[in-house]
Amino acid sequence: MRHSWRQRLSSWGKIAELLFFPSFCELCRALLENPGERVICRLCLAKIRPCPAPFCLACGRFFEGAGSPHLCLECLRGNSPLIKHRSFARYEGVVKDVILLFKYRSFEILGTFLGDLLAGTLGHEEDLWEGVGAIIPVPLHPIKRKKRGFNQAQVLAARLARSKKIKLLDRHLFKLKDVPPQTTLEAEEREKNVRGVFDVRRGQELKGKTVLLVDDVYTTGATLRECSRVLKKAGAREVRAVTVARA
Ligand SMILES: [Zn+2]
Ligand SMILES: [Zn+2]
Repeated sequence: MRHSWRQRLSSWGKIAELLFFPSFCELCRALLENPGERVICRLCLAKIRPCPAPFCLACGRFFEGAGSPHLCLECLRGNSPLIKHRSFARYEGVVKDVILLFKYRSFEILGTFLGDLLAGTLGHEEDLWEGVGAIIPVPLHPIKRKKRGFNQAQVLAARLARSKKIKLLDRHLFKLKDVPPQTTLEAEEREKNVRGVFDVRRGQELKGKTVLLVDDVYTTGATLRECSRVLKKAGAREVRAVTVARA
């Protein structure tokens, strides 16, 4: 087969890149030699799979063992302002490693990949998407955003919005205060920690809408519940949420 000069040039380019600027998988250290491989190798990427366990229809908690989705005890009892939340996987193994690389090592490209995974798996769940009029990322405080260079939730939300063809509203919910990370706090302290931390601008664009919040990790749900409360106060009709992983 004859190769065009363009193809030859690009394969020489790839060889030169491998010789002079070799890059290795951030997880298994394998040489990234396949076209399109960035940050982590294909084999590691292939290990990122949705959690096959049954889940709570409301809060998205994964159950142990087999069975079909149903409501967990807490959701049967409680009256959460967040109606429906779904995670792609449990916060463990490769999924956790990739989220940490994405967030703390600033490999923004991994967010694009994770966003596409969310769209490809949770994107088919009719009851999650039915009637959704806007996608909203959980905001970062501007100082933190500047430090990281991007808001991880915004990268994920933008990808989901693009793939589902739903409007992305990323200038409507914002964070007023930079509070200690939720992961450093006990469960009850997390609710207090986020109380009054978020606010809404241009609330008129949210009136009567069903909105879908997007974040990277769900720990106790305190952040999503507080965002949901604020969005509803501003006039949103219903708030649902998706996250990459559930701790
Ligand atoms: Zn690898
Ligand atoms: Zn539940």
